[in-house]
Amino acid sequence: MSACPTTALGRTECAQLLIDQMARIGGETGEGCEITVSTAPPLVTSPYGANGYECPHGTTYWIEPTSEQIMRWNQAGVR
Ligand SMILES: [Zn+2]
Repeated sequence: MSACPTTALGRTECAQLLIDQMARIGGETGEGCEITVSTAPPLVTSPYGANGYECPHGTTYWIEPTSEQIMRWNQAGVR
């Protein structure tokens, strides 16, 4: 398994790509979606589910909404 290239910010390019994608989708819908991207599966299963994404380098990234995001969804009544 090869490592993912790293950006100047210390994130891998693949994680940054996922964050950018979610930010763009959020910008189009007018609703931000803050996420965290981790290479480790979540310890606690989120009620919104965990989405695993395998990048071309063979690393699986797990996308989860941030706790702030979940709080905002709760306030808006989104399930
Ligand atoms: Zn990668």
